[in-house]
Parts: sequence; structure tokens; C-alpha cells
Amino acid sequence: MKAIFYDKKLELRDIPKPIIKKGESLIKVLLAGICKTDIEITKGYMNFKGVIGHEFVGMVEEGKLKGKKVVGEINIGCGVCDFCEKGLSRHCVNRSVLGIYKRDGAFAEYITLPDANIYSVPNNISDLEAVFTEPVAASLEILEQIKITPDSRTAVVGDGRIGQIIAQVIKLTGCYIKVYGNNKKKLELLEKLNINNDILCENIKNKYDFVVECSGNPKGFETALNLVKPRGKIILKSTFAAPLKFAASKVVVDEITILGSRCGRFQPALRLLANRLIKVDYLVSKVFPVEEYVNAFKYAKKKDTLKVLLKI
Ligand SMILES: [Zn+2]
Ligand SMILES: [Zn+2]
Repeated sequence: MKAIFYDKKLELRDIPKPIIKKGESLIKVLLAGICKTDIEITKGYMNFKGVIGHEFVGMVEEGKLKGKKVVGEINIGCGVCDFCEKGLSRHCVNRSVLGIYKRDGAFAEYITLPDANIYSVPNNISDLEAVFTEPVAASLEILEQIKITPDSRTAVVGDGRIGQIIAQVIKLTGCYIKVYGNNKKKLELLEKLNINNDILCENIKNKYDFVVECSGNPKGFETALNLVKPRGKIILKSTFAAPLKFAASKVVVDEITILGSRCGRFQPALRLLANRLIKVDYLVSKVFPVEEYVNAFKYAKKKDTLKVLLKI
């Protein structure tokens, strides 16, 4: 089968179709999304070697949900540790992660996943929208980690695809929300969704109870530190391949909490999409056939691009 393999460089390879183990499903991938994490992997993040890609929608060919259109949670736990027993396989220390760590990913004709990881996609969600289940779930994770009250002020640093989704998800709490970015076109899209937005500015300080950093740029963290109020919380979503340098004294003096936030649950994400509570289709900039992966990655790195999808 065709697959985009990363081993110090990206290559379209012909590799054997995966064989399912007990309790797993074989899924034919239909559409997959290029995520910032995939781009970071191509810069050395996680030292990953294998088929990349973790945002997908596909059709089950063998397994419990045979014949169903599905999306899949990307963390595969050991199934027996304390975390796995609490349903937190995404924190299992022996986990593998689809297309990110110790497991081949979704930029391939076929993938395998445990039955427990896959979720049937409601009929009113298009393939294109379903690919966003993972980033929507990752956005919802913030609401599982911290309580954002309706009277609080939240800023999102980063106007890219994940910033746009996070802003929509947090807006549902009723709080005041504003997205800071530096791309006029992307900020205009937020305008259409009635989400407050502004160009990044160095001199706005101490204004927000919560600041979500998802700019994908180490400078974004500095901005988040500026924006957050004393005793506020910074929610860190960007996964940087490079180490982060910052003035830790503000964190100490202002008693700032820095909270890492990664993956979330799929079921509520599918519910938000099915109930039309958030919009994602406008985020698709272009769909490329998998054979054109080189151009697709180039396009994904462009300044004005939001989401690039691969048709497998
Ligand atoms: Zn992703
Ligand atoms: Zn485990």
C-alpha cells in the first residue's frame, strides 16, 4: 500500500498493508489532515521514524465497526496500567501514538487501531469535517483541565487552525474571549464567527485570567506571559521541537500556572460537530492527492494556509 514514510526525510513508499491483532480494526483511510505536529516531526520532533499522520477519517474494513465511517483516538495504551484502567490511555507511559510515537500513522491507505479507539461518525458530519475531530477533542481537553467561568477573560495566542477551533470551543463557556494573531486574513475569519480578535501587540499586559498559547511559535509563549494576569493560567498547546526560553521570574512573582494540554476525548468532539456548535469546514485551504505530498507539505507551511488535507 501507499504510505508517506518519514525517516529523516519524507517519502512516498510502497509498504505492506498492516495486519490486525486481536481487538483491532483495519481502517481504509479516506481523508487525512496535515497538522502542525506532522510538520514538527519532519524537523525532528519525537525522533519519529515511520508513517506519519494522525488526523483522519476512514472506513472500517475489518473489526467491530465494519462498514462504518470512523475517526480514531490517536493514543494506544497498554490496557492494564492505572491510567488505562481509568480510561486515560492517552497518558499511559507505555502508549504508542498514531503517526507520532511507535506506531505507523494515517498518511497511508490502511491503518490499524484498537476497537476501543474508534468512533462512528454521525451521518450529518462530512468527511472533511470529521478530519477535525482530533483538534476539536484537543480543544475540549482544556475544558476538562480548567474551569473557565462565564465571567472570566480568556485570550488565545495564535490565529491558525487550532487557535480558531479553540476559540470557538471556549466561546461556548460564555466567557469573554479574544484571539491574538498576526495574520489579517485569518483574523478576518474569526470576525465572521463573531469572535473578538486583534493583531499581536507587545504592550497589552496582565489582562487575562486564562491564556491559551497555540501559535506554534516560541515567541507566542512570551506574548502569553505578557497577557496573563497575576495568578492566571497559561495553557500551552504548541508542541515545539526546539526548547523554550522564557523569563521564569514573572511566573514566580505573579504565581502563574503553566498547564500543558494535549489530546482530548472524541465523543464530545463528535457531538459538538454533529450539533453544529462549531464550524470547521471553512478551515480547509486545499485538498491534495496523497501522491502530491511534497506540494501539500509546502502548502501547509505557507503563511496564509489553514488546513491542508490529503486524499488517500
Ligand atoms: Zn494534530
Ligand atoms: Zn497503560
